[in-house]
Amino acid sequence: MIPTGSEEARPRTTTITLPEATFSASGRECAPPRLASSTPASPLSPSPEAPLLLTGLTTAQIEEFVAALGLPRYRGRQVADWIYRRNAGSFEEMTDLPRALRHQLAAVASVGRPEVVARTVDADGTTKYLVRLGDGQTVECVWLPYREWSSVCLSTQVGCPMACAFCATGRGGFARNLSAGEIVAQFLLARAHAPCPVTHAVFMGMGEPLLNTSAVLQALHLLNSECGIGARNLTLSTVGIVPGIQRLAREKLQINLALSLHAPDDETRARFMPVAQHFPLPVVLAALRDYTAATHRRVTLEYLLIAGVNDSPAHADRLADLVLGKKEEGGPLLAVVNLIPYNETEARFRRPSEEGIRRFMARLKQRGVAVTRRLERGETIAAACGQLRREAASDAPGARPRRSPRRRGTAVART
Ligand code: SAH
Repeated sequence: MIPTGSEEARPRTTTITLPEATFSASGRECAPPRLASSTPASPLSPSPEAPLLLTGLTTAQIEEFVAALGLPRYRGRQVADWIYRRNAGSFEEMTDLPRALRHQLAAVASVGRPEVVARTVDADGTTKYLVRLGDGQTVECVWLPYREWSSVCLSTQVGCPMACAFCATGRGGFARNLSAGEIVAQFLLARAHAPCPVTHAVFMGMGEPLLNTSAVLQALHLLNSECGIGARNLTLSTVGIVPGIQRLAREKLQINLALSLHAPDDETRARFMPVAQHFPLPVVLAALRDYTAATHRRVTLEYLLIAGVNDSPAHADRLADLVLGKKEEGGPLLAVVNLIPYNETEARFRRPSEEGIRRFMARLKQRGVAVTRRLERGETIAAACGQLRREAASDAPGARPRRSPRRRGTAVART
């Protein structure tokens, strides 16, 4: 079970301004998580003006909601079963509920299934959805089939404030946080269309999950306890928001934590990741060490390989030094490095040659670093983070013509 977690203590006053967003260094979100439509004052009090999004609530909360409507609690259990375990996308599909009851519920609540705006399917089966939320904003989610299992890659924000120079989402700016319900709804949508069981979920879509921590923790809880995804099959990837990592450490979840490291030193990192100016690597790594000590979970260090930027033998050596650690730092970090050949979405960055990728990997192995290479998916679709949304936007009437990126594979990972 994943606890939903307590709310943060009162935030400290430090605020950090990043391009397009402000957040507090205490780890609180840039904006409180909102439901797709406006949230009623009490999340469980039905209001005809603002239908309540039921995805995002636990079975017990849905029971409370129907009880507030004067209905027996078991009706709430039925509704939750339909939403979380029987893939219902509307009240109409809940055929063992009396028709009048379905209409009564539809008048005050929504099951929150987003509308699919675009869908692209790769030859390997990878399916990318661009979905429209209640307020018209769009986000992406991706279904990834593997041999014995399948996974869904979820967005946590509309856009992203982190502005990593290599990332298509970062280029599009930031609009708002997603609610827990909007995050879980992406999973339910992808699962409803999946031809085989979905066993994993990764928080590696659009946005920075640890700038939306409360909603993300609630979504993790729901995926685990309502949708039946084991905690160890859930992965959260962060750019390195230290208060968020500290909060995860306190929650002691058994999920997988991945850090988008992408450079072994702050000088290199700051060249393409503005977050390096706010959370320097020594501070991020100390937070990771505390995290591994608290959870006993190995973390993943994601390392995007970009030709001529971070792929030299000297970078590999510095990366090995960082992972192996100094004695006074506590020795080796409990971590595996996951190499990600750059998916060319930005013209100024190139993917290294196969030979270059292999050499970088071999050097790390030689130094005794645990290293894997990301299994790339979505060869023929715009599957890197934020690509599909940008393409849909540039296809809109009046949009500027776009450069056609070389599509090399997806930015979402095997967990
Ligand atoms: N904000 C979070 C999660 C979203 S991005 C984070 O930064 O970790 C998920 C992963 O995709 C990150 O590791 C990100 O750096 C990577 N990514 C973004 N654009 C990419 C691209 N064009 N090619 C390969 N990986 C990319």
